[in-house]
Amino acid sequence: AIHCDRVDKSFGAHKVLDQVSLSVREGEVVAMIGPSGAGKSTFLRCINLLERPDSGTITVEGHTIDVGSDFSKKDLAALRRSVGMVFQSFNLFPHLTVLRNVALPQMRVLLRSKGEAEERAMALLERVGLQDKAGQYPARCSGGQQQRVAIARALALDPNVMLFDEPTSALDPEVGLEVLAVMRELAGEGMTMVVVTHEMQFARDVSDTLVVMADGGIIEQGDPQAVFTDPQHERTRRFLRAVV
Ligand code: ATP
Ligand code: MG
Repeated sequence: AIHCDRVDKSFGAHKVLDQVSLSVREGEVVAMIGPSGAGKSTFLRCINLLERPDSGTITVEGHTIDVGSDFSKKDLAALRRSVGMVFQSFNLFPHLTVLRNVALPQMRVLLRSKGEAEERAMALLERVGLQDKAGQYPARCSGGQQQRVAIARALALDPNVMLFDEPTSALDPEVGLEVLAVMRELAGEGMTMVVVTHEMQFARDVSDTLVVMADGGIIEQGDPQAVFTDPQHERTRRFLRAVV
């Protein structure tokens, strides 16, 4: 579970997140939608402190970090370890094979042996349907395959929560479906997930809670069916008219 409480973030004079609070239960899938510039990516990056918020608290698995104060490297490492992230651009290491991409972070971060890390990597590659790509370099994989490798790499660190920032928006629709299928499976297995997405179908079918962000804040959240069919906020209505 994650709990973010009153997270603020400004870039210079520009307030990008204004007192954003969000709770995600164990096993809950939250889809986050909203117009460009709303602060969705910034918020995700603040959750695992890739971006340092100005103030607020982040609680993961019962451990709270007050982001405005000095927290320890140990707190940061623990947070990063329990929160996996998948980006729009897959960010694989180009000079490492698919197998090494998934194995190396386990050796670095969790100090697993090479054998143990590669065994786990193979199991995860199988799970995302890519066991036959293990020896290949990322450049020889399609975008959808690279994104599935990125998901396997994040899962390899046994996170409690997975954050996805528009994981399919750089992909052709057909290839994006392979990635969405893996995410659906993960959701079905009970992974706790926050997914920023433009895939309204996915948001509607897979998420337990739909969160709408606009202008640096959460303007609406609730059951996805309810939000889609009867949005309460004029800004949500306008956004949904534009995208659905
Ligand atoms: P999109 O749907 O286009 O991905 P988003 O909701 O993810 O949009 P963010 O990327 O979080 O939006 O950006 C929110 C605001 O913060 C934007 O106005 C953006 O220009 C600004 N911003 C983001 N990162 C930085 C940065 N490093 N420096 C300055 N401004 C930034
Ligand atoms: Mg974004």
